[in-house]
Amino acid sequence: MMNIVYIALGSNQGDRAGYLQEAVEEIGRHEQIMVEKESSIYETDPVGYTEQDKFLNMVIKVNTQLAPADLLKVLQEFEYFFGRKREIRWGPRTLDLDILLYNQENIETEELIIPHPRMWERAFVFIPLIEIAESKDLPVEINRKELLARQDREGVHVWKPKSGGDVSGLTES
Ligand code: ATP
Ligand code: CA
Ligand code: CA
Repeated sequence: MMNIVYIALGSNQGDRAGYLQEAVEEIGRHEQIMVEKESSIYETDPVGYTEQDKFLNMVIKVNTQLAPADLLKVLQEFEYFFGRKREIRWGPRTLDLDILLYNQENIETEELIIPHPRMWERAFVFIPLIEIAESKDLPVEINRKELLARQDREGVHVWKPKSGGDVSGLTES
């Protein structure tokens, strides 16, 4: 059974773009995960703990046979493989991989909440997400135009456009 999953990637330490690109490649190399789409890379002012460098963020769409908990384990292994060592919540990190959506499922366990509980208040997550997501993959109540009209998207700028992609609708202000 193939599941449609959207994953958010973030990095604000070291070779940020290198971490994102290598993470996408490693994820795609996993036997049970296929990367279907990649968003542009966005640069984002830090949120929460603001005494740190800017983030690069992107979202990918993958197909996978892995169950949500198994996918989370794989992603956490990649985070540690890429040298993530940090204790501050929302603090600096080489790589953060969050599962945003898994089909249309609602999951709530100790380890995993899907849809990701903070995704719709974070422009650095929903802007790359709606750049690549098909409407059928988004929760029915989500309105793209409303999200893009919000003020809080201002700290988020295209840093590297998706190859061949048109992001003009997202970057105009
Ligand atoms: P935030 O969750 O607000 O983006 P964070 O990414 O900095 O914060 P982490 O320290 O990376 O938080 O993760 C803390 C825990 O969140 C993980 O150990 C994981 O079990 C849990 N978690 C819950 N829901 C998810 C999800 N949808 N994707 C990834 N991790 C999740
Ligand atoms: Ca996160
Ligand atoms: Ca995380």
